Amino acid sequence: MEAISKKFFLHLSSSSVLDRLAKKWGPKFGANKIVGGETFEEAVPLIQDLNSQGLHITVDHLGEFVSSEKEARQRAQECIQTIQMISSHQLTSQVSVKLTSLGLDIRHDVVWENMIAIMDEAQKHDVVVTIDMEDSTRTEKTLEIYKSLKERYDNIGTVIQSYLYRSSEDLDDLSSYDPYLRLVKGAYKEPGKVAFVEKSDVDENLKHLIEKNLLNGHYTAIASHDDAMIEFTKAFAVENNIPTDQFEFQMLYGMRNDTQMALLKEGYKVRVYLPYGDDWYGYFMRRLAERPANVSFAIKGLFKK
Ligand SMILES: Cc1cc2nc3c(=O)[nH]c(=O)nc-3n(C[C@H](O)[C@H](O)[C@H](O)COP(=O)(O)OP(=O)(O)OC[C@H]3O[C@@H](n4cnc5c(N)ncnc54)[C@H](O)[C@@H]3O)c2cc1C
Repeated sequence: MEAISKKFFLHLSSSSVLDRLAKKWGPKFGANKIVGGETFEEAVPLIQDLNSQGLHITVDHLGEFVSSEKEARQRAQECIQTIQMISSHQLTSQVSVKLTSLGLDIRHDVVWENMIAIMDEAQKHDVVVTIDMEDSTRTEKTLEIYKSLKERYDNIGTVIQSYLYRSSEDLDDLSSYDPYLRLVKGAYKEPGKVAFVEKSDVDENLKHLIEKNLLNGHYTAIASHDDAMIEFTKAFAVENNIPTDQFEFQMLYGMRNDTQMALLKEGYKVRVYLPYGDDWYGYFMRRLAERPANVSFAIKGLFKK
């Protein structure tokens, strides 16, 4: 049942027709519990509130279906404005970006120029930018762009997914760049030729990646709602004298709020990934695919005014 529901929501997540309809609806059907608002301005008071509780943030302007160069440049401009507002409101927030929304599938020079414009602004305001990792057809291109940008900018990170067979080698390859990495299990539907099929293999590989990146001395964000991964990281850090300022836990906004607060109280750094924007549809569908329990609040949302 869980596997069927996962396939169903992942299939829905890639529908651009439903995506267009969703823009008209606005974040309803429970999406507003996991999305910060339709604009960054709407999200500012929420970020201030989360910051006041001690939570760090990374904001993500939702948008995956970009079909023209003009749209991609517009996305970059919006991202630049977000960076300026983070600075002017003195928010404790990073920015997460998806290269497809900045023109990755259009042309290399489009996404490159957009990232340079974003990184110049982020460097000016001392804001860290993390490149989210998308599906495996884009992994190589994303890592190449990350490495080229890391040669120019310090304030940039990216994501490694433990479901991909290649990820351990990617960590080795990235090590000389002193990378800022977020380690995740992976959210896309991937074929068995590139990714582990068994969940237990994905989990074991995440533990392996956490160990490797921490022992390599690199700052590591462990982005998981899974208690097993959180407890593993805590114990591994203690056993190996890894200082608590070498890693942080990251969770999505609206997920496991109690766990976020408990980790804060224990003295760990916790960052909340807060998506905003009218392009919330694909993001919402992937969260439903991951956790069928999320469907219940979506259904409740359907009946709420
Ligand atoms: C901050 C952040 C950034 C991310 N960035 C990316 C990215 O760039 N690219 C990408 O592909 N993926 C990204 N992801 C998604 C990630 O790859 C996983 O798909 C997602 O986090 C689900 O895996 P999990 O480790 O949280 O736990 P799962 O394997 O989904 O769940 C394991 C266990 O954790 C517990 N659990 C999980 N969710 C909940 C919940 N909501 N409430 C209570 N218990 C729960 C349950 O016990 C569950 O059995 C990101 C995730 C986070 C948190």
